[in-house]
Amino acid sequence: MATTKSAPAGRSGIDWAGLGWMFLFFWYFSGVTQALLWASGTTGSTGSRQALLASALWLVPLLLFPGRARLLAGAIGAVLWLCSLTGFAYFLVYGQEFSQSVIFIMFESNVNEATEYLGHYFSWSIVLAVVAYGLGGWLLWRKVRPVYLPRRAALLASLLLFTVSVGYQGVRQFFKHEEPLAALEDFEKRIEAAAPWQLVIGYRHYLQQLTNMEALLASREQIPPLKNLTDAHAGQPSTLVLVIGESTNRQRLSLYGYSRPTTPNLDKLRDELQVFDNVVTPRPYTIEALQQVLTFADQESPELYRTTPSLVSVMKQAGYKTYWITNQQTITKRNTMLTTFSKQADEQFYLNNNRDQNARQYDGSVLEPFAQVLADDAPRKFVVVHLLGTHMRYQYRYPEEFERFTDRRGVPDSVTDDQLPTYNSYDNAVLYNDHVVSSLIERFRATDPNGFLLYLADHGEAVFDAPDPEVLGRNEGAPTSPMYTVPFILWNSPKWQAQQPRDFASALNRPYSSSHFIHTWADLAGLRFDTFDPSKSLVSAEFKPRPLLIGNPGQPKGLIDFSLIKPKKPATAGAEVVQQERESKEQPL
Ligand SMILES: [Zn+2]
Repeated sequence: MATTKSAPAGRSGIDWAGLGWMFLFFWYFSGVTQALLWASGTTGSTGSRQALLASALWLVPLLLFPGRARLLAGAIGAVLWLCSLTGFAYFLVYGQEFSQSVIFIMFESNVNEATEYLGHYFSWSIVLAVVAYGLGGWLLWRKVRPVYLPRRAALLASLLLFTVSVGYQGVRQFFKHEEPLAALEDFEKRIEAAAPWQLVIGYRHYLQQLTNMEALLASREQIPPLKNLTDAHAGQPSTLVLVIGESTNRQRLSLYGYSRPTTPNLDKLRDELQVFDNVVTPRPYTIEALQQVLTFADQESPELYRTTPSLVSVMKQAGYKTYWITNQQTITKRNTMLTTFSKQADEQFYLNNNRDQNARQYDGSVLEPFAQVLADDAPRKFVVVHLLGTHMRYQYRYPEEFERFTDRRGVPDSVTDDQLPTYNSYDNAVLYNDHVVSSLIERFRATDPNGFLLYLADHGEAVFDAPDPEVLGRNEGAPTSPMYTVPFILWNSPKWQAQQPRDFASALNRPYSSSHFIHTWADLAGLRFDTFDPSKSLVSAEFKPRPLLIGNPGQPKGLIDFSLIKPKKPATAGAEVVQQERESKEQPL
């Protein structure tokens, strides 16, 4: 019987252990960070799976040129190690995943700030961990040995590994999309969790979105200012705060009558709040909704967001110093338009740099910058606080101590045992959102301001709510009312109320679409200009009720009145709806 010379070869003659060491070596540079992210509960398991598959690619050159296996492994490993260091160290410092948004923030901050950050977070334990990480790679490299396969077997194995790691996804995405660029982007999503792609793709996306944003910013600079702007509060110190929530259906707030006490703090503040209970969003998606909320665009003239001033420019024109504090992602393809609005502000605080929106991130992080802005000595301030609110995955939105709804108490009978954890985690997210929004109000109130704070959510969310208890998520194509009904509350400071006395009682139940929000805001702020329409202001004596148009305005026949939403057939599967919602996120602006 012929025996091979290499001792570890198995009975089949193939050195499986040798292959295993090779794979482990390459996996190490992507897998360790992804496994840490997963194990710490920061992200789901998708990144780890991607890292596993993508790492198989590097076995190909080693199998094709076994004579140089160690040299090749060393060279590829060195590149992977270098490229993976950023993501590894970033996780150690921030406990989060590296992304294009981090690159954005790095280039946003000046050198001084960057050095300050480094000084703030530098610790010997991190240096030690980075050294240990490199040592681990080196020890694994010493285990790498050539694996000799018969030529045909080596070619076949290489083809297989190439297919599994990148080939299959590449071909699949190419045939799935008509646009090669769209195919490339979807392909990139499948491999970007692995080194060195995380850095390469992150940088490419950063450059791409930066170019888009700069073009958008430049075109916004061409927009003429409002004509004949007057300000009832001109020359007086004032602070106006707009808090934009996320995916929050008001029916799940005890402030709006929900049976579970999900908003205990706002309930306590109730006497100081104006609670509007008939406001709906025009569209159940963040960007599409806020494009109308924050500009003069609405369902009938959806394109106006390109050619009319945004709320930030309106307030700047009125002489306010403007601030944008956001816990949403920044330089992603979906969020570029919003980041453009934020860039129009005088100061920005970008707090969320996760690669994936489905990552752990708490809104409490806005409180510190909010306090900082309130302490700024500019006399007139306009502050936008953009929360992540109750966006899915709900369990990533609140720290453990807010996990208070854990059983069936207060849960409708229609909610199944399978749905219960999701249903409860949404209520816990609402409870944490209550903590954040009420803290913002309380911190604001403590400064004895002349001004007001207004909170509304961009859109709602269906989480097994009546009358379609099987629906989870949002889908414009199959609308249900919880996707549209949003909280809308106002805290007016005593000083402001004394200066501009208003009786809100008759306005609280008015049917209103947040697509006309800019008129309500201008009215509250005491601003007037040529295109101001008091009949579109929720708080004006001249308010006129209009149909609450929902749907995609790109297909005008698809617009329907909110009141015409019919309950769905019980056949609609919740999982399917979530899937559709995800797809829609991939649509361009
Ligand atoms: Zn949203």
